[in-house]
Amino acid sequence: MKKTSLCIHGGAGVITRGSLSPELEKEYRRGLEDAMTCGLKILSSGGNAIDAVEAAVVSLEDNPLFNAGKGSVLTHEGVCEMDAALMDGSTGKAGSVAGVTTIKNPVRLARLVMERSAHVMLAGKGAEEFARTNGAEEMPADYFLTELRKQQWEKMKNSDSVSLDHDGNKKFGTVGAVALDTNGNLAAATSTGGMTNKRWGRIGDSPVIGAGTFADHVVAISCTGHGEFFIRHVVAHEISALMRMRNMTLADAAGLLVDTVLKNAGGEGGLIAVDHDGNIALPFNTPGMYRAWTDASGNIRTGVYRES
Ligand code: ASP
Repeated sequence: MKKTSLCIHGGAGVITRGSLSPELEKEYRRGLEDAMTCGLKILSSGGNAIDAVEAAVVSLEDNPLFNAGKGSVLTHEGVCEMDAALMDGSTGKAGSVAGVTTIKNPVRLARLVMERSAHVMLAGKGAEEFARTNGAEEMPADYFLTELRKQQWEKMKNSDSVSLDHDGNKKFGTVGAVALDTNGNLAAATSTGGMTNKRWGRIGDSPVIGAGTFADHVVAISCTGHGEFFIRHVVAHEISALMRMRNMTLADAAGLLVDTVLKNAGGEGGLIAVDHDGNIALPFNTPGMYRAWTDASGNIRTGVYRES
């Protein structure tokens, strides 16, 4: 069987040793392992990269610890507005949704947009109407709310500031997955609640194809961090362009974007990527990033801090 690869992330930010209790750290690592298991099951039975990334992201969306699906951060108005996207590198097709408030798994809706509509990106009420006619599962608003997110919002709702920080911890909780399947197909998926106290229908990089999510025949990428910077620098597509047109390795291209381009611009965050040979890169310019991958012997590895 040809080489397969799967990497996932659960957000980057100021996550330092001591900022998480040992119990909470264990829970995060368990959440990452569960999501890896969902994706790996598909890849090891010969399934498609697109199914693997969707399954891994659904698992993270259902886990209230991560800022996507259940557990998403709250807007200025106190609701969850979620964004998600996925892209199939083998077909070049993509689907994306922005500002949805009732969809249990926004990444599944993004998949439906990709497969059952003539469009790439649907937003807000229109996306929810499309969800209803295409059988995507919906949930009442309180399903998405968690006590932690309410507390974070209470602290910020009377201010004008918009924050990517979680509870004073600079932590970007977006989730994502990238995969290479046994047939050589690459795929990427990303899902997020965005920023606490966001308003005016703010949309980040995650659902913007080429910025926070991208896959082609060369590489698949999912980003996390301060979305505006990832949009301005079209980060995910730029990595592919550097590899295709400048013959850069994945490690060099991803490192250039995260450690030089974004860093110089003041854009905090990180990304996960896998190339057509199964090489992976997980660079971040923040103190930590929740992440998981498989090592050379196929074992699941998780990392939280810079030194894992
Ligand atoms: N990139 C996301 C956004 O700007 C946030 C995150 O990664 O946590 O919406």
